Amino acid sequence: MNKPGGDNLKKLKAQRKAKQNDALLPNLPGMAYRCKYDRDWTMLFVSEGCYDLTGYKAEDLVNNKEVPFNEIINPEYREPIWKEWERVIALKETFRYEYEITTAKGEKKWVLETGRGIYGPDGKAELLEGIIIDVTERKERELQLKYLYDHDYLTSLYNRRYFEEILLRDACAAPDKKRAVILINLRKFTYLNITYGYHYSENLVREIVGNLLRLCRDNVRLFHISIDRYAFYVEGFAGKDALVSFCGAVSETLGISPMLKTIGWSIGVYEIRPGDRDPENILKNASLAAANVRASASGYSFFDNELEERLYRKADIVRELTRAAIYDDSGLFLVYQPILDLKRNTVYGFEALARLKSETLGEVMPGEFIPIAEESQLIIPIGRIIIRKALDFMERLHAGGYKNAKVSVNISTIQLLEDSFIPSLTEAIGEKSIDPANLCLEITESVFSSDYEEINRRLDEIRRFGIRVALDDFGTGYSTLARERELNVDIMKIDKYFIDKILTIDARQAITSDIISMAHKLGHSVVAEGVENEYQKQYLIENGCDFIQGFLFSKPLPEYKAAELLG
Ligand code: C2E
Ligand code: CA
Ligand code: CA
Repeated sequence: MNKPGGDNLKKLKAQRKAKQNDALLPNLPGMAYRCKYDRDWTMLFVSEGCYDLTGYKAEDLVNNKEVPFNEIINPEYREPIWKEWERVIALKETFRYEYEITTAKGEKKWVLETGRGIYGPDGKAELLEGIIIDVTERKERELQLKYLYDHDYLTSLYNRRYFEEILLRDACAAPDKKRAVILINLRKFTYLNITYGYHYSENLVREIVGNLLRLCRDNVRLFHISIDRYAFYVEGFAGKDALVSFCGAVSETLGISPMLKTIGWSIGVYEIRPGDRDPENILKNASLAAANVRASASGYSFFDNELEERLYRKADIVRELTRAAIYDDSGLFLVYQPILDLKRNTVYGFEALARLKSETLGEVMPGEFIPIAEESQLIIPIGRIIIRKALDFMERLHAGGYKNAKVSVNISTIQLLEDSFIPSLTEAIGEKSIDPANLCLEITESVFSSDYEEINRRLDEIRRFGIRVALDDFGTGYSTLARERELNVDIMKIDKYFIDKILTIDARQAITSDIISMAHKLGHSVVAEGVENEYQKQYLIENGCDFIQGFLFSKPLPEYKAAELLG
């Protein structure tokens, strides 16, 4: 039999392939090519689709007759494409790359090229072949999506997500470069939304951002963090002074808007430290610095060592309070300051004062930890523990035979406003053998700044259980005499401020005596707080004050000493 020779077989196959190509290539949404592996990508074969794709006829490209293919490629891609070919050829892999070209008419198009090398017997790439197709539509959609992903729709600024990406990238690429985040916090934004509506505040934001953008430079960029937070990212600045003066410029720019001047702002500066790689932490530190600006002022604050230490201490206190609230309340204890009955010259009772103790913190005073407990809402469980400990103390006094000793406990407004406060208080009292009349709750004038009607109703309810109520720190806060009259309290505690006045100004001019007689007229007993010397005591006796409390008689005492005092 006559077998076709090897050469013939090859010819046949090539013919069949050419026929297939004839059918395939004209329908390709792009062009197929074969070219030399050189810097021009000198074309040896180009399919007809070339014209639709590039605007050049196939024969214009072959052998670089009119234009080398490399010149159609946009310049910024030429070198990366060469590098990528070098890489894939070394590995004998497939080439895949997206880049932009400029057509004969000057139109820009996105293309996807897929190709491979044709290797000689020595393994060297002799030619390249592949296809290039138009992906402009898809690419534009992708870019649009990417734009939406990286930008804020309202201000068109880069968003927080993108900012975090940049912070991370820069931390890795140039850890030693000076970088800072200057975070702007617009205050009372919810108030603006409520009062003027969302459109108004959105327009205001656009106006503010428009102004702030004028401060941007090559090394200063502005980002959208949230509707009321914006951040400048400053790179390669000279030093802290430069940041201070930049903050001045930011304040000036913000001040252009009269509305913003009234609602106010705070600026927090965080100088990124080498090794700071956590974008979330960077933004958090800048926010903490901003939160450090006084609520009443518009200004700036740096995140410095002192602030950091304070924040660490605060975090430690929150940790200890949480521990006391949930696991083990032994770090939380009470000391008792005696209250002296001036008329009978006897110990009338005690004010329970909270203390927090831990190995790391030592002894922490309530002036420090109570506001933190209030801010973190831990005051609710902490307050409950304090009441329980005070009631335990009362029960022990009662058991020791001191059936009339009074005990005062300080209560935060937040506690009072909690719905389960009164039921759990009365339940706790019910479980003990104590007389509710011996318990007094001390509230401060801050009740006047809260839901006053509701608080007054609750105070009334508390008093109907026989528990007594004292208004603490009288004269320092919000009260007016007119409202004092309506408040359901039994006792008024005159703040140390007015007791000090007895010494510093002519006693006859001190209004302390007026406060005492006014309180009496309202039917309240009066406790003078912070009595430190005999002269004050005499003044208070002469002016009919009922009780005194202060270092003159005794400092707050541990329980055993307090009980001794009664004995
Ligand atoms: P406060 O209720 O006005 O308590 C009186 C504070 O004045 C106590 O400070 C007491 O040690 C101090 N003091 C008493 N006599 C004198 C004196 O003669 N001179 C001077 N310079 N100070 C005197 P402390 O124990 O540091 O308590 C501070 C504040 O913390 C209390 O002020 C009270 O508002 C709050 N607090 C204390 N314990 C609790 C608590 O259990 N719950 C709540 N919510 N607040 C508490
Ligand atoms: Ca008090
Ligand atoms: Ca007080």
